[in-house]
Amino acid sequence: MEDRRGLLMVYTGNGKGKTSAAMGTAFRAVGQGFKVLMIQFIKGSWHYGELDSAGMLGDAFEIRVMGRGFVKVGAEQPDQEDVRLVQEAWNAAVEAMQSKKYDMLILDEINYAIHYGMLGIDQVLEGLAARPGQLHVVCTGRNAHPKLVEAADLVSEIKEIKHPFHKGVLAQRGIEY
Ligand code: ATP
Ligand code: MG
Repeated sequence: MEDRRGLLMVYTGNGKGKTSAAMGTAFRAVGQGFKVLMIQFIKGSWHYGELDSAGMLGDAFEIRVMGRGFVKVGAEQPDQEDVRLVQEAWNAAVEAMQSKKYDMLILDEINYAIHYGMLGIDQVLEGLAARPGQLHVVCTGRNAHPKLVEAADLVSEIKEIKHPFHKGVLAQRGIEY
């Protein structure tokens, strides 16, 4: 078997395209026969197209939506229920890593959970360091923690130049969800 080195990849920044980039990576990986799991730490407000697309790929690409809706930004303390759900999502990630069932694990919006203090960065780095050596991991979300950036093999920052939201264009089906 070829020498595969599991990479830690981070998509961050304030522009649109982080989760899309992770899904594009998954799409490529599935074509190579990889099994991909995406765990979504924060549940969005739509029925996302990718949930159905993943189903069309059979069991090659599995998406688990584990978080609750968007957490109140700026709140002093995150809601305990959100913290519990985020921890549960992280536990699922650890279990998935240890199971050796997957070739790629996507932790969607984990940066957000870390940024808002719902998940400890040291706990995450420890878990990631202990993963099987061939497992690729992708972390997405704004405000990637500096320690995660340091630990990563690949970091891309997506910078907003324009977004239709700023001229009042509402979320478009097939683009945003
Ligand atoms: P996508 O899922 O489309 O790849 P993303 O993962 O980069 O986007 P998130 O930070 O997860 O973006 O934000 C979730 C939602 O907010 C998406 O529907 C996205 O289109 C929207 N969004 C992202 N960036 C911006 C922005 N700069 N201004 C307004 N809305 C944005
Ligand atoms: Mg996203």
